[in-house]
Amino acid sequence: MKIDLAAIRTTRKEIEVSFPLGSIDASSDAEIVANVEFRGSVWRDHRGPHISGHFATKVKLECVRCLAVIEKAIEGDFDDLFAEEEQTTPGELELTPELMDVSFAGDSVELAEVLREQILLEVPEQIFCRDDCRGLCPKCGQDRNLIDCNCSADIDPRWAALEDLN
Ligand SMILES: [Zn+2]
Ligand SMILES: [Zn+2]
Repeated sequence: MKIDLAAIRTTRKEIEVSFPLGSIDASSDAEIVANVEFRGSVWRDHRGPHISGHFATKVKLECVRCLAVIEKAIEGDFDDLFAEEEQTTPGELELTPELMDVSFAGDSVELAEVLREQILLEVPEQIFCRDDCRGLCPKCGQDRNLIDCNCSADIDPRWAALEDLN
């Protein structure tokens, strides 16, 4: 959904849109696995045009300890300002006819792209499937949440010595 920045007025225009699954590709680290719902508005103040609102979706992530796949709900609020060229003090800028045309005509942003960036900001860098995830065994690679592989006993000789006392 393209938004024509030049057409944005001071009066808020409400936007409600649902991007179907697959239409926004977040990144290789966080796959979006639900519709991206957006509810917000476009408006303008003395600084320039804004796109603001609330989004919600779900992403698929891997537990950093055991690599289990987790679906996590992601949502957030944002207010993006698209600063205009003409903030340069008049006089410093040579207002040739060509420059005036370039300054704004036809400038638009893709709402899906704005949301993609916002989603990435909300995706946690590290996620655990649960707080006490035991992770993969560094020796045999098995998931210690599922299996007690008993490798840990011979990892640290000090512990091995203690076990001999029993
Ligand atoms: Zn885990
Ligand atoms: Zn093991």
